[in-house]
Amino acid sequence: MLVDIALATPYYQEVGKEIAVFNQAYKNKIPFLLKGSTGTGKSRFVEFMAHQLDKKLITISCHEETSSTDLIGRFIIKGAETVWLDGPLTTAVKQGAIIYLDEIAEARPDVIVAIHSLTDHRRELFIDKLGETIKAHPDFMLVASFNPGYQRGFKELKPSTRQRFIAVSFEYPEAKLETEILVNETDIDLDTAKKLVAIGNKIRNLTELGLTETVSTRLLVNAAKIIQSGHPKRASVHVAVVEPLTDDLQTLVALKDLCDLMI
Ligand code: ADP
Repeated sequence: MLVDIALATPYYQEVGKEIAVFNQAYKNKIPFLLKGSTGTGKSRFVEFMAHQLDKKLITISCHEETSSTDLIGRFIIKGAETVWLDGPLTTAVKQGAIIYLDEIAEARPDVIVAIHSLTDHRRELFIDKLGETIKAHPDFMLVASFNPGYQRGFKELKPSTRQRFIAVSFEYPEAKLETEILVNETDIDLDTAKKLVAIGNKIRNLTELGLTETVSTRLLVNAAKIIQSGHPKRASVHVAVVEPLTDDLQTLVALKDLCDLMI
C-alpha cells in the first residue's frame, strides 16, 4: 500500500518522548522499532513523523505470506518482454522514503534476511534476482512494528534482528491524554470521552478475563465516532468496545453489564 503524505499534518498526541527519539534515529540513520499492542497509535505516529520530516511513507502490512520478493521486486511479463518491477522496499531505498513494515514478525524469514544489510552500517540492499547491490539513499529509513503480546515465542524477533533497531514501547496513554485523543479525533463531548476512557481502563485492569488483546485506543475512538454520529451510547459501547474483544458469551454479558453502569 502506498501512502502519499497528505497536506494536513496527521493528528498525533505524544505519549512519551517518542518524537524526539524518532528524530534522533532518523538523524543517525538507525532503524526504528515500535513495540506495542494493536490500536496503540503506532501507525498514526509513523504517519505523523513522515509528515514532520517531509518524507514519503510506504507502508507494508506484513502477514505470513509476505516474502522478500514482495518487498524487493520481481520480473513480470509485459507483452513479449520480461521486465523488472521494483518492490516497495527497493523503491524506498532508491527514493529515500520511509518504509514502515507493520507487524514485521509476521513476515516470512527471508524478509528479515533481506533487511539485515539495510539495518547496519552498510545500508545496502542486495537484489538477488538481478545480482545487484544498491546503496540506500541518504534519507532512506526503515521503521518496523511488532506486537510482543501475541507472539508467544514462535514469532519473536530474534535478538540479532531486534538489536539493529532503536526501540520504543507504545502503551495505552494515561487517562487525560486518551481523553484528549478521543475529543480530537471525534469531537465528542468531554464528559462522554472521560466515561469511555474510564470503561477502557476498567476493562484493561480485568486481567482475570484472559482476553488476547484488551481495549485499545482504536476501540474507544470507534465508540466515540458512532456516538458522535447519533448511535445510542450503551449500544455503541457494546458493538465498538465489547463485541470486538471476545466471543465468550458469559464474558460478553458481564462486560456489557459493567459498561452499562459506566456510560
Ligand atoms: P496501531 O498502528 O498501533 O495498531 P493506530 O495508529 O492505527 O494503531 O491507532 C488506532 C487509532 O487510535 C488511530 O486511528 C487514532 O484514532 C487513535 N490513536 C491511538 N493513539 C493515538 C495517539 N497517540 N494520537 C492520536 N491518535 C491516536
